[in-house]
Amino acid sequence: MHNHLRHSLVAQILDCIVDAHDRHTMLLAALVCAVGIYASIAIARHAARSSGAVRIRWGSTSVLSSGCTAWATHFIVLLAYQPNMRVAFEPVLTAISLTCAVVGIGGGVVVSLSSRRGPRQFAAGVIIGVGVAALHYVGQSAYLVQGTIRWDLTLVIPSIIVSLPIFGFSMMAIASRNRTWQTCAAPLMLLGIAILHFCGMAAMTLQQDPSIEFPSDAVAPQTITPIVAGISLALIALAFLGWRFDLAATARIRQDRKRLRDLADVALEGLLITQNNIIIAANRSIERLSGLKQDDLTGSEVSRLLPALELTTLLENEEREANLIGVDGIIVPVRVLRSTVPLGHSVQTVIAVRDQRERLRTEEKMRRLAFADPLTGLPNRTKFTELLERHTCTERRTDQGLAILLIDLDSFKIVNDTLGHAVGDAVLQDVSIRLSTLVKDRGIVARLGGDEFVVMLTGDVSDVSAFDIASKVVEQLGARPFDIDGRTIHIGASVGLALFPEDGGDPSSLLRNADLAMYLAKSEGKGTVRRFEKILHERLQERQSLEAGLRIALSSGQLEVHYQPLVDAASGRITSAEALVRWRHPSLGLIAPATFISLAEETGLIVPLGTFVLKTACAEAATWPPEIGLAVNLSPAQFHDKSIVSIVASAIEDAHLLPQRLEVEVTEGVLLADTGATLETLNRLRSMGVRVSMDDFGTGYSSLSYLRRFPFDRLKIDRSFVRGIPSDAESVAIARAIITMSTCLGLLVTVEGVETAEQYAFAVSEGCTSIQGYYISRPMRAEAFAAFLIAWNNQAPPNPSTGRKIAEKSIVLHHSDLRSVLNW
Ligand code: C2E
Ligand code: CA
Ligand code: CA
Repeated sequence: MHNHLRHSLVAQILDCIVDAHDRHTMLLAALVCAVGIYASIAIARHAARSSGAVRIRWGSTSVLSSGCTAWATHFIVLLAYQPNMRVAFEPVLTAISLTCAVVGIGGGVVVSLSSRRGPRQFAAGVIIGVGVAALHYVGQSAYLVQGTIRWDLTLVIPSIIVSLPIFGFSMMAIASRNRTWQTCAAPLMLLGIAILHFCGMAAMTLQQDPSIEFPSDAVAPQTITPIVAGISLALIALAFLGWRFDLAATARIRQDRKRLRDLADVALEGLLITQNNIIIAANRSIERLSGLKQDDLTGSEVSRLLPALELTTLLENEEREANLIGVDGIIVPVRVLRSTVPLGHSVQTVIAVRDQRERLRTEEKMRRLAFADPLTGLPNRTKFTELLERHTCTERRTDQGLAILLIDLDSFKIVNDTLGHAVGDAVLQDVSIRLSTLVKDRGIVARLGGDEFVVMLTGDVSDVSAFDIASKVVEQLGARPFDIDGRTIHIGASVGLALFPEDGGDPSSLLRNADLAMYLAKSEGKGTVRRFEKILHERLQERQSLEAGLRIALSSGQLEVHYQPLVDAASGRITSAEALVRWRHPSLGLIAPATFISLAEETGLIVPLGTFVLKTACAEAATWPPEIGLAVNLSPAQFHDKSIVSIVASAIEDAHLLPQRLEVEVTEGVLLADTGATLETLNRLRSMGVRVSMDDFGTGYSSLSYLRRFPFDRLKIDRSFVRGIPSDAESVAIARAIITMSTCLGLLVTVEGVETAEQYAFAVSEGCTSIQGYYISRPMRAEAFAAFLIAWNNQAPPNPSTGRKIAEKSIVLHHSDLRSVLNW
């Protein structure tokens, strides 16, 4: 350099910096450089935030200002260089050097903006470096001294080779997302510039030569200084402008953020505004939800609040279940939704957090309601079916037993109807407690609805142990009365038992078969246990088709009434007839009442059926001679029907029949129920003039006390006693005793089922009132009876054997024949 001595490379550069430059000017250069860089960056940021023409305008301003910064810095440093000889500047090259800086930087920026990728940024940096290098060496060529300049290329070329990658890395750092990398950008840029400048200066060796004349257009340093100063001032002005832009932008972001938070506070949902997984703001709902304060929340990581939530895998607008960890580690089940919101020139992630506790509680409650019986708290039908389903599956695997006990309360309906629903409910609750206590952990108790309960016995269940528990159920519910509000209530239970898989291979058939068994238990007198049998199923189907057929029979006139004469024992004349119903089936012929009366009684069809018989028979009897009476059978169900008296009254009235000609026959079964009402019905019928007889005497309870208590007019000795007469001594004795007793009580006595002359003779000799039986005639159709009556009574003296020939042979199908015919 200027002292002509060749030092080592480092010493050469250090000398150049320390000795050859004026320190204050160097400081000024650094200041201008810093201000210029700040101005360029601030203006560039502003350009990035805006769009359209504004963006282009501020973008080029930024490029221009950075070019000027580089140029001004270079020239200030050059001015600071004091080579102890006259210096001047070549104006054209000076201008070109500025153009080099601006074009280089501008080109670099354009390349940099085209893509964020690393290689592109590196290339942009290299272009900028080339611009700066060009600025330096073109500027250096514009530097004129009164002497010769020699360049040390061993310094120039390496300085360019080293500085260009540094520019490249600097640009990569600017574009990087990594913060530490980003902070390296400016120092790297400065380093590149410094290397270029100081190496360039150090590579220059000046040799004074007073003979050299400056060209005429050479500009003196004093002239260049104000230009440099002017550019520097402009840069300061630009920096100030950039600073204002930055301030305004920050204020706007702050305002936006505040507005966002205000808006968020209104929301019922919890909202978290986050950036790079850090919570920037949280709304009040989040504070309530977590119990944490705004200050604790902001700045902390999202994962602190929502640990298991993988934010990176959560798609925009995708909802996901998560757990929010609040103060003291409380866990709140939530649903989160992520969406991105542009705020200023950055993008922020908003996480909406919805509290799920209320929803989960409601769901749980609904599930409970859907599966439990609200009255007893026991599982309901739905739940039970599900449990049964599950257990039958397990049972198949484990080969353990399973039994179904279907329980139906007896006479619960009466309790409910007479004592009210509140009492009924209390009984059901007590029943559920008794059942649960009895079953304990041996199975599950459920309420299927109404007064129907079910027990599923699981574990080690055999038919014996299941039957044992079923019997205990009957005992628990039947033997011990219920005490409701001081009232003692007696109910009972009928239980149907079905074992898995013998009595049903799947849940529904198992339940259905237990139901069938329960039905059988009920029909067999209640308060018992019945296990399912295959035959039950067939019997039920048979009954069902019979019932359907009977309904049709009633409505389509397939029922008809036959009459069987009763002969007065003393005179031998027919004095009355008993009306007996028959079903003339279109394909099966005549069906006997034994086949369908009990079914009609169970289904309630007996009431319309009985009314039909009563009306038909009364109308028929009205055509007979007035001294001939009519007997009609009344079932218990008919008899206990409150309207029976009015039905009888209207039947005789409609037929214009004298009430004295009608007699109703009831069996002992009628007397078992409610004494007061029975007595009243009997009395009201009798007060009308209608007589009442006790049918089938001797077959039921046959309590003599009934005969005293109830005002009967007649007794009919059941044909089971008559059958043994005269051979069976016991039958003879009973028949004789009944006739004697009735006569003593002032009752009329009819002997029915008389089939032989001996039986007829016996009845006459024992002094009974009247005789009925095949020996006289089978029951016959109305026309046949009318003819029979005339023929019989016109005979003198009456002879049963003649009269019998007149009787039509009615062939009646009986129950036992029916089944084989129908295969029901
Ligand atoms: P029941 O009231 O005891 O009727 C007498 C039954 O004995 C009749 O059978 C009759 O045909 C039969 N019978 C009469 N004489 C003899 C005889 O010498 N030998 C034999 N072996 N049987 C004789 P049926 O008509 O089959 O009626 C059977 C039962 O059906 C009746 O018994 C009665 O309880 C009931 N029933 C018939 N019709 C009606 C009705 O209209 N209403 C009600 N509620 N029950 C009826
Ligand atoms: Ca009868
Ligand atoms: Ca009878």
